[in-house]
Amino acid sequence: MLSRIYFDHSATTPLDPRVLAAMGPFLGGAFGNPSSLHHEGRVAHEAIETARAQVAALIGAEPDEIIFTGSGTEADNLALIGAVRASGKPGHVVTSSIEHAAILETCRFLAESGTKITRLPVDAHGLVGPESLLHALQSHVTIVSIMAASNVVGTLQPIEELAHLTKLHGVLFHTDAVQAAGKITLDVNRLHVDLLSLSAHKLHGPKGIGALYVRKGVSLSPIVFGGGQERGLRSATENVAGIVGFGAAAEIAREELASEATRLAGFREHIAAELARTLPHSYLFGHRSKRLPGHLSFGFRGQEREVGRLLAALDAAGVAVSAGSACSAHHSGEPSGVLLAMGYDSERARGLLRVSLGRFNTQQEVDHFLEILPRAVAGLNGGARHSQVSQSVDVPAVALA
Ligand code: PLP
Repeated sequence: MLSRIYFDHSATTPLDPRVLAAMGPFLGGAFGNPSSLHHEGRVAHEAIETARAQVAALIGAEPDEIIFTGSGTEADNLALIGAVRASGKPGHVVTSSIEHAAILETCRFLAESGTKITRLPVDAHGLVGPESLLHALQSHVTIVSIMAASNVVGTLQPIEELAHLTKLHGVLFHTDAVQAAGKITLDVNRLHVDLLSLSAHKLHGPKGIGALYVRKGVSLSPIVFGGGQERGLRSATENVAGIVGFGAAAEIAREELASEATRLAGFREHIAAELARTLPHSYLFGHRSKRLPGHLSFGFRGQEREVGRLLAALDAAGVAVSAGSACSAHHSGEPSGVLLAMGYDSERARGLLRVSLGRFNTQQEVDHFLEILPRAVAGLNGGARHSQVSQSVDVPAVALA
């Protein structure tokens, strides 16, 4: 008998037991305030500096370029609001139309104070085109912010190319790498990025701790004021256990990245091939190959409005997957803004099912999921009819295999 199968790692990941072990002392006896000068304080301070080096190593940065924040969301807020405030003008932010709410809502906030916001279009795979960025860079721009990997469709953006173009115009480049970090190799120097957001809970670390990479020489204004911790960019007594956990999670992710990426991409391809075989009315969202190793999102032709019931049926059968992003789960049944931006009509944009795999998933779980899914789909309205249709139906999305 299998226990529950967790296939929703884009929402959050289970804490790695090795991370929990590293955090343990800092939830217990090692309780010092890292700003204190006594022994207890020094122990906490040293643990934070070790973690800073571990997080820096994951993205090829220097330790003093890492600012710990309370979340990936806060890192995104600090990057954009901090850059605009440091510029001393209302400024102009260029971003994509498929960013996470942490970027889109920050842009909305900045727009209220007069910042111009340009949202670049994406193609049917969710890719931002360099031409549209070049066009936007013809006017004065304060900062460009493009996510490294989509939380909804898993597409990887050509960050190196987009950041290079941006740098040629002397403009700051930020990437939200919350979904990409620990899954694909990221090197801030090869990518030419100035600012990069991270979140520990997406890489088997704890929740409520994030980081912003800030390239040396980039000037940012703080958005939280107080005791001046984190080089004055993030005042507040540090979440020492969270930071230590983030460091341990980053180190494990770095060491295991190559083997995990291969293993998870193997599962992903197997699921895609089996879906195409057993559910020929299924179709994939996002780019066929430029995607996160463990991420698949797909829809079922004619059953788009049934996705909520499908989720519930899978949940009842012991499988946790999601409809788009965790943030959009509260609005399930609504068309996904990301899919609308990718050119899907509102019917198709309602029907996304996301499977995101992680470190503790096994072949046995994948096989069990592939047994359950066709049954769950067949149980929906129109399921029996649709599971008969041949694969030659006109799918505007990319065929699964
Ligand atoms: N950016 C992206 C792309 C995300 O997927 C998420 C979380 O889902 C965030 C930012 C927010 O990170 P956090 O949950 O640490 O605030």
